[in-house]
Amino acid sequence: MAMEKSVTLAGRVIITGTIVAKSGLHIGGAAGALAIGGVDMPVIRDPVTQQPYIPGSSLRGKMRSQWEKLTGAEQNTSIGKQVKIHTCSDASNYNQCRVCPIYGVTGDKPASFPTRLLVRDIPLVPSSLEGAQTDLPYTEVKWEAAIDRVTSAATPRQIERVPAGAVFSPMEIVFNLYEEKDVERLKDVITAMQLVEDDYLGGHGSRGSGKVAFEELAVVCKAGEEYKAHSPADGFPSKLSEWTDEHKNKLSEWVRGIVFSKKE
Ligand SMILES: [Zn+2]
Repeated sequence: MAMEKSVTLAGRVIITGTIVAKSGLHIGGAAGALAIGGVDMPVIRDPVTQQPYIPGSSLRGKMRSQWEKLTGAEQNTSIGKQVKIHTCSDASNYNQCRVCPIYGVTGDKPASFPTRLLVRDIPLVPSSLEGAQTDLPYTEVKWEAAIDRVTSAATPRQIERVPAGAVFSPMEIVFNLYEEKDVERLKDVITAMQLVEDDYLGGHGSRGSGKVAFEELAVVCKAGEEYKAHSPADGFPSKLSEWTDEHKNKLSEWVRGIVFSKKE
């Protein structure tokens, strides 16, 4: 079986940059946690600095769900209440799957293989909010009416958001390459980022929260036992919104040249 082969890390692509909140951003903290100001729906904060941040798992999860929607992946696995995702239950499908080789499978599935995509937590840059009008440290409180579907009664509730203009940095997305086919999958990662940019991050997106932009992008590729960092000679657009299919193809071929050309 293919899954029993040894796994060689052929190389890594590291995409760094910043995430700019274009509208207020609400990534929820645990309900009942020690919320500053006692708002109904607090944002997640770093327990040490008390600053809001973007958990890597939130960005990665959103990239996955958007990519699953685009590729029409079967939603067959429950994770938590009312959330379903796709995972391959059969190892024979895994290698053809557009989702699992990039984002992984849940631990109970036989198709176990190292996940290719890793997204680190992204801290807030506090200076990006200097001079901003905030209700609580680094955040604004937005009142929304929650409509009871049975009685139609409107109950006001407070949503805490990091205001528009906030910058989160450094963003770091790591993509591991195990086989040559992975240079094609790398293009799908960029597409997933584009999907997130056109959708939203966090909660309350349909009410206008969570529009984000990926900026100041830089790409580095490291390969083999030498593990030297290569930077592209003529670069790629620093704003994700300027990336075209041509850039994705160029990225893919550039990585192929570094990681897979010197094959014995
Ligand atoms: Zn799958």
